[in-house]
Amino acid sequence: MFNIVKGTHDVILNEATKYTYVENLLERVAETYGFKEFRTPIMEYSELFLRSTGESSDIVRKEMYTFQDKGDRSITLRPEITAGTIRSMVNEKLFANQDYPIKAYYVGPNFRYERPQQGRYRQFNQFGIECVGVTSPFRDIEAIMLGYNALKLLGFKNITLQINSLGDKQTREDYQKALREYYSKYVDEMCDDCKERFNINILRILDCKVEHDIEINKNSPKIEDYYSGEARRDFEIIKDFLTDNGIPFEINSNLVRGLDYYSGVVFEYRYTSSQGKDYGALGGGGHYNNLVKEIGGPDIEGVGFAFGIERLVKLMEDDSLFNNEEETIDLYIMPIGMQNQKICFELATFLRNNGYSVDICLENKAIGPMFKKAERRNALYAILIGDDEAKNKTLNLKNLTSQEQITVKFDDLLTILDDMFGECEDEHDHHHE
Ligand code: AMP
Repeated sequence: MFNIVKGTHDVILNEATKYTYVENLLERVAETYGFKEFRTPIMEYSELFLRSTGESSDIVRKEMYTFQDKGDRSITLRPEITAGTIRSMVNEKLFANQDYPIKAYYVGPNFRYERPQQGRYRQFNQFGIECVGVTSPFRDIEAIMLGYNALKLLGFKNITLQINSLGDKQTREDYQKALREYYSKYVDEMCDDCKERFNINILRILDCKVEHDIEINKNSPKIEDYYSGEARRDFEIIKDFLTDNGIPFEINSNLVRGLDYYSGVVFEYRYTSSQGKDYGALGGGGHYNNLVKEIGGPDIEGVGFAFGIERLVKLMEDDSLFNNEEETIDLYIMPIGMQNQKICFELATFLRNNGYSVDICLENKAIGPMFKKAERRNALYAILIGDDEAKNKTLNLKNLTSQEQITVKFDDLLTILDDMFGECEDEHDHHHE
């Protein structure tokens, strides 16, 4: 027996079907907004994350899976996918013809050495988008709406969208100065993490979850008092537009996000299940001013966000947002006698090539046990072929719901099946033409 690596989890059987459903839906939504898929490597040079995710982020300081490869290069299993996506745009010269924006979406695993708990894994999957070459706050709005609408299409109701603006460089410099002044009076009584944050990334003190620190945070300087004219205007445009489009949001001036590259608007999608379960944010992201340049691209801005697939699936399970129909198979083929295996096998291949899901009994079994198997596989129809049928090129087709059985010529089978399955097309997702 081998244990699974701590903080990882198997996604198999029905669970895997749910992951695929969620991922496919998100991908389709991204496509409708004009985003294209990017598949970048899981391994990147460690330097990429030091530069982008940021040396003061928890991710880079404590959570990366970093190792020297046999060529003595420092490699990191990606803790997030934004950096690699932008790197690919730079390396592949997508910025060369300045046809902006470049719109990318991605799905895949990330690795962070975090303390495992509900909704928090060491290997987890994200779906995300990046829109690069952003010149107006409307791109930020488009990204926020994409995420919001995708969650609605997955079936979530009452999503809480929290937004904040981190302003521009000047805003943050002035604000950090004010925070330093304020917290210098309290830092000695704050938690160890906050003591560290005070020196490394003071903004992160604002989202500390320790009770005593939350109290101290209540009276801290507020970022909105430090916005420049432009930062304030952009944030106003975004808020107005969300209101006009019926997207409810809350302003959370303590929302700073864990990665260093954000500037301008940042946002998170939150959801509490009907049983009151909350596994942390479903997803989040924001606008970035300097990331593209930092990774070697031109001086252009971008916006992006990522959802955690594990959390989406867990909450959808908790709130029964998956359609719980049992998985069925279209046809179960039963050879009566080993001598009829070959013809049954050929028929299975023919039907599979025509889009039907088919299983076939490949052992020598009596009819009773074969029906048992068909039932356990949730087959909709059974096909029985014995010696007479094989000789006459016919077969017995049995509807396993109504128990009706008809005899059908080989040549007519496809037309008959297409008719029968065509009739219930809406109820079950059969893609055969
Ligand atoms: P981040 O990349 O940290 O902004 O996270 C974006 C989303 O990814 C979060 O809102 C979560 O849904 C998900 N996520 C982040 N870290 C983890 C983790 N360790 N385990 C599961 N999901 C995670």
